Amino acid sequence: MASVILSHVEKIYDNGFHAVHDFTLEVQDGEFMVFVGPSGCGKSTTMRMIAGLESISSGTIQIGDRIVNRIPPKDRNVAMVFQDYALYPHMTVRENMSLSLKLRKVPKQEIEKRVLHAAKVLDIDHVLDRKPKELSGGQRQRVAVGRAIVRTPDVFMFDEPLSNLDPKLRTTMRVELKKLHLTLKTTMIYVTHDQLEAMTLADRIVVMNQGRIQQVGTPLEVYSKPANKFVAGFIGTPPMNFFSCEVIRENGTVHLKSDGFDFHVNRDHPLYQKLQERGISASSGWTLGIRPEHMELARGKAGENQIQAIVEVMEPMAPEVFVHLTSESGEFVLRDDGLLKPVIRPGQKVKVNVDMDNIHLFDEEGIAL
Ligand code: ATP
Repeated sequence: MASVILSHVEKIYDNGFHAVHDFTLEVQDGEFMVFVGPSGCGKSTTMRMIAGLESISSGTIQIGDRIVNRIPPKDRNVAMVFQDYALYPHMTVRENMSLSLKLRKVPKQEIEKRVLHAAKVLDIDHVLDRKPKELSGGQRQRVAVGRAIVRTPDVFMFDEPLSNLDPKLRTTMRVELKKLHLTLKTTMIYVTHDQLEAMTLADRIVVMNQGRIQQVGTPLEVYSKPANKFVAGFIGTPPMNFFSCEVIRENGTVHLKSDGFDFHVNRDHPLYQKLQERGISASSGWTLGIRPEHMELARGKAGENQIQAIVEVMEPMAPEVFVHLTSESGEFVLRDDGLLKPVIRPGQKVKVNVDMDNIHLFDEEGIAL
């Protein structure tokens, strides 16, 4: 087991493409860290640099107490599980799992012991003599993990290991991986573009975009306190709703205003205090962010902090319903508990309440206030 520390790591590919910028991160010993971000954001490049499969252009990478910049992959004691599993088709499961130990000249008896132990942990001990083509997708995935486990590495690295599985199996394997981490307690670094996978697996998440870290935090932190508009929009399904607005602070109240709404934030609200600290009394170019679960259909008369809208479609996601609406301030989605009181239908005019305790405000650069 070991910590992994990246300091100011940069990657510029031979063609001049700057794939990773100033990546600084400490993955603690035994932590499950997930790198998440859209395709091409540099997740795999970063992971491959840690494994030593890709050179680094500058900065340092430390695994345990060793700087590994110049240490070849085979001597870094990290094990990687790839998306396509990379199993040898002509070898049995047992042979696939034994191979790396054989190459390291581990005694035969010890190999047999470790393979059997890993196979039991992963529930593949009954398929040890089969070839990969005789296995289900989930079993193949387990063999790939098993092959990594037998090496007792300091760090496990997973590059989108579940993306070839069907959705149901993905969910099952996700739980299996989480259990495995609890059993082995080894440091794990896991790459995915699936934010749900990141949220459910991680102790901490690194959200990346365009080769840069956007935020590092626990799943709850990145969800409830996104550092910027990118993180706010990337984490959460359906995504956070964004509305352009202006900010006017007067007589102890902040107005968040657009054509379609005028929300009031009073003096004891954290946003009021932050705007006051920054000396902002009137300015435009802001983005208000509200998650779909922090809006609800209003009953009865018009009240404060509401937005008028027209129901477009309802998307049943039992037991919930996602209601898509349009308003003068743009389209948005709210998440209803499925009881839909009052009952609504497409085309209907409705009023929507906003939970002012859970709003987010982003400045012109997209940075959260
Ligand atoms: P995905 O989820 O699609 O795998 P990723 O976040 O893992 O994406 P990387 O594979 O790390 O992204 O790639 C980051 C960027 O670097 C991409 O724009 C990619 O095109 C570029 N890139 C990757 N490998 C090379 C290479 N060998 N030479 C030049 N550019 C590369």
